[in-house]
Amino acid sequence: MRRIIPELMICAVCMVSCNTTGWTDEELSLIRGGGNSVMRVLSVDKQDDSLALRRTSCDIGVCDLQGKDYKILADRLVRTLKDCDEGVGLAGPQVGIARKIVVVQRFDKDGEPFEVYPNIRITAMRGDTEPGPEGCLSVPERSGYVQRSQDIDIQYYSIKDGKDTTETVKGFTAVIFQHECDHLDGILYIDKLCEEPEEDQLKQ
Ligand code: ZN
Repeated sequence: MRRIIPELMICAVCMVSCNTTGWTDEELSLIRGGGNSVMRVLSVDKQDDSLALRRTSCDIGVCDLQGKDYKILADRLVRTLKDCDEGVGLAGPQVGIARKIVVVQRFDKDGEPFEVYPNIRITAMRGDTEPGPEGCLSVPERSGYVQRSQDIDIQYYSIKDGKDTTETVKGFTAVIFQHECDHLDGILYIDKLCEEPEEDQLKQ
């Protein structure tokens, strides 16, 4: 996801529709290619990229999550996101890897770190949705408003703990998680646009 206006922002529905398999040759080529450089971010402006962005992502095998290639992928995703102007979130499909993995800048934590979440899904959304402006690193030079929940639960595989972990996330960071998890289902924010709200409807 790309930040559109300071303090407001963007990036959930996760369905398991494929079996978990080991890395494919194509995925390994993308992960290992280019050394430690940033990865190319796919764009809807290119036909092949646009089709790739519509794929449904699979989980990463637990054994693969302990391996060297996962570490390389996680590091390169963070590096790629940090290299993008105003980038606050990035999902595997955006670099051609149709796997459930996202990077999110945690604005709700001290130091606003960029963190990686493998095999993530949103397991609960609470309360009313609110409209907010969003942009996407894969949808150049556009922005629009989307209704998002401000209070969600995420479940992901914790590398540190070696097990699935559930966490509650609120506010703008919850919006980023929803935008990024949508990518894992081949959904883009432009599929969900709503009307721009009147000024007095926006919470600051
Ligand atoms: Zn996006």
